[in-house]
Amino acid sequence: MPGRLVVAVDGPAGAGKGAVCRFVAVKFHLQYLETGALYRAVALLSLRFGGLTEDPERLAGLARGMAFQYHPVKDRFIATLDGEDVTLALRDESVSMEASRVAALPAVRKALLDFQRGYGGDKNILLDGRDIGTVVFPEAQLKIFLTASVEERAKRRALELQERGETVSLPRVLEEMRLRDTRDRERAASPMLAAEDAVLVDTTSMTLAESQQRVAALITPALITPLMRG
Ligand code: C5P
Repeated sequence: MPGRLVVAVDGPAGAGKGAVCRFVAVKFHLQYLETGALYRAVALLSLRFGGLTEDPERLAGLARGMAFQYHPVKDRFIATLDGEDVTLALRDESVSMEASRVAALPAVRKALLDFQRGYGGDKNILLDGRDIGTVVFPEAQLKIFLTASVEERAKRRALELQERGETVSLPRVLEEMRLRDTRDRERAASPMLAAEDAVLVDTTSMTLAESQQRVAALITPALITPLMRG
């Protein structure tokens, strides 16, 4: 990875990774990939084939063969899978739940490694996910673990769904969030974990703007020491 800056941002769902990363990616001209979108794409394939988590090798084969394109835009991303616009489908709650199941399969995780490591070519990159600082880019120059209490994250998620016009029950969102957290934390393959050298940012009592500024303040010094990277 000589020469390019790699920023790894990990943490649970609802901590604000997407909104924070999109902001700093634009500000610092970093190529941004929300790696959850990749797992969601595999989850969508799994659901379309009637649920493939019992057949990890077949699912991994589909993951390796899929043509996935991801383009971050202002406050969201656009994604295509084998030429089809799957932007909305990927955000569906059934896909979120299936994503945490497919993400527990080592063969699937392995199949997605090359895409993640090759992302952005020689450009400076920012990847967010669960295992970027621990497994995908353990050599990243800057690692951030962005988190918040599960209650606060569920509240944010419920608000987001409400704004989209969906009927939501906060207790249900909280329960699903807890279930996903447990699956992500307790799986044997690349569990969600803060790297030892990650900077912990707890956004529980921060506004979005404050979280964005805090992360921007961490990236600035990482960008101005390029000579140390060569
Ligand atoms: O971040 P997002 O909620 O979109 O991710 C969907 C799911 O994909 C997560 O619940 C997690 O199980 C999985 N994931 C992962 N490793 C990553 C990114 C996402 O296991 N690097």
